[in-house]
Amino acid sequence: MAKRKYFKTESKKLLDLMVNSIYTHKDIFLRELISNASDAIDRRHYRSLTEDEVDAAEAYEIVIHRDEDNRRLTIADNGIGLTEEELINNLGTIAESGSKAFLEKLEQQKDVELIGQFGVGFYSAFMVAEKVDILTRSPFADTGYRWSSTGEATYTIEPVEKADIGTHVVLHLRPDDEENDETYSDYVKEHTIRRLVKKYSDYVRYPIKTDVTKKEDDEETTVTETLNTMIPIWKKAKTDVKDEDFNDFYKRQYHDFDDPLHTIHTTVEGMLTYTALVFIPKNPPQDFYTDQFEKGLQLYSKGVFIMDKNKDLLPEHFRFVKGLVDSADLSLNLSREMLQHDRQLKKIATHLEKKIKNELEKMLENDRDKYLEFYRAFGKNIKYGIYDNFGAKKDLLQDLVMFTTDQSDAYITLGEYLERKKDDQKAIYYATGSSRAHILSQPQLDAVKEKGYEVLMFTDDIDEFMVHILQSYQDVPFKSLKQSESDFLDEEKKDALKTKENDYKKLLKAIKKALKNHVKDVKLSGRLKDAPVCLVSGEGMSLEMEKVLKTLPNQHGLKAERILEINPDHDLFAALSRMHETRPEKVDDYANLLYQQALLIEGYEIDDPVDFSNRMVKLMVEASDK
Ligand code: ADP
Repeated sequence: MAKRKYFKTESKKLLDLMVNSIYTHKDIFLRELISNASDAIDRRHYRSLTEDEVDAAEAYEIVIHRDEDNRRLTIADNGIGLTEEELINNLGTIAESGSKAFLEKLEQQKDVELIGQFGVGFYSAFMVAEKVDILTRSPFADTGYRWSSTGEATYTIEPVEKADIGTHVVLHLRPDDEENDETYSDYVKEHTIRRLVKKYSDYVRYPIKTDVTKKEDDEETTVTETLNTMIPIWKKAKTDVKDEDFNDFYKRQYHDFDDPLHTIHTTVEGMLTYTALVFIPKNPPQDFYTDQFEKGLQLYSKGVFIMDKNKDLLPEHFRFVKGLVDSADLSLNLSREMLQHDRQLKKIATHLEKKIKNELEKMLENDRDKYLEFYRAFGKNIKYGIYDNFGAKKDLLQDLVMFTTDQSDAYITLGEYLERKKDDQKAIYYATGSSRAHILSQPQLDAVKEKGYEVLMFTDDIDEFMVHILQSYQDVPFKSLKQSESDFLDEEKKDALKTKENDYKKLLKAIKKALKNHVKDVKLSGRLKDAPVCLVSGEGMSLEMEKVLKTLPNQHGLKAERILEINPDHDLFAALSRMHETRPEKVDDYANLLYQQALLIEGYEIDDPVDFSNRMVKLMVEASDK
């Protein structure tokens, strides 16, 4: 007896859409089913190399049976097949978020072409069929199964006899609908199938066969013909492939709604022989900056699929790249472990890394807008790449990073920064903050403006970490604006500061003593105009870096050196100085409050909120006592 089961909600909705489909591109159902068949063969082949239970087929093929009398179209493959559980999980439920996302997109775009990008292609069969049967046998099941549905709320499953491993998808075509000009019976006709296979599935690597009738000397014979050329898109002559073909291939194969930003198609011959077809997406996938994201390229050997996400082919800094590598030099019988150590593969990876970098550089040179689009999407990843492994890849990547500056919100490279720098300028200056606006409001910029030096805006967490690794670019050192006050003061100002520091030596000493647990030094500042104090860091880690590190696990202990800079021209400094003379015991409270304020101004948490509050309360009580 067949078991009757219900489709899961999202799948049901999708089915309704297909059954009542008003979409014009009904043709694509064939492409989807052939693509599923081809994937199933890929999987059988791969597993036959790695698992004892799975045997390879003698010859892989996809056969289309056209039964004109019964209006029945069957797509048969000798791929991996499905177990009962897989039938339920993979066809009865569209388990992943795929169908939901697809439904949402379909509402907006009304384009059924999108279907293959969501892992719900099988359902398109119901656009043309009133009933679908699947006869299948998996090497992991003791029997075959028949799955059957009319695309309504339920489907049935029952065990059936089936000797060969593989799957037959049988479509019982809908009656023709002349009113709406839908002739479903066309789909069993030879010329329709021939046309659709050529159009959508020509590159499929397995033969797609159908029986055709040949007329010779008035005699009709039936022969089996292979309809596709089987030349994968990456193996076709460049003149035979349009950009549009690559874009379609990308979207289907790598599940993206958008065309790729850039396509790299390269064939290398010689000591190392391989073809790569790789794409830079327009946008990072949603999980790109999470642990969930898996980088990798598909691996083929002579057009035959080996594995889906080979991590070793892509370095971390180019992990956003999607695509495939096909190399005749690889043995088909490689296991995953062996692949990891394959020297050939390592060489291809190195080669490809250079190629990608060169393409990006060319883009930067020839099509800046396109590069900026790339950089906005993946620039952060390039910066991580420089920081990673103690800068092992800095020479490869440093020409690819860009920043805005205090003088312009247009992005420039480090090279361009140096071209514009002033003759007397000895460093590449940068300022760190949460946004451009935040940085531009910082008081330290005043002095540098007078000099006319340009300042790079560091707004990503990674930026400062990256320059700590880079240290310099073309021998010009990077310098934080906060740590380079003396670069901007003229001699006169420097002398005046020194004199003042001497005059107020005792006061500064007293403040330093009061803050000995918090700051390394207390100094007078020559660059503050309106602010009473500011907090800067000493050599090494900056306060901004400390902030970032605090958010990471196991890094809480790391601290930046703090230096408190006081504005000697501010009223508050005068008040402190009077206090020091008349009631020296108060300096401790004032110094502490001042320091905590500096923290607040910079946007940091106060070290000890209770202490801060107690001192503040004391001050208020005293003020009211007077
Ligand atoms: P997708 O193929 O994009 O994952 P589909 O809705 O087309 O989405 O198919 C759902 C799942 O059903 C597939 O992932 C696969 O596991 C299984 N499947 C479909 N067709 C076949 C087939 N011919 N042979 C084996 N498994 C299949």
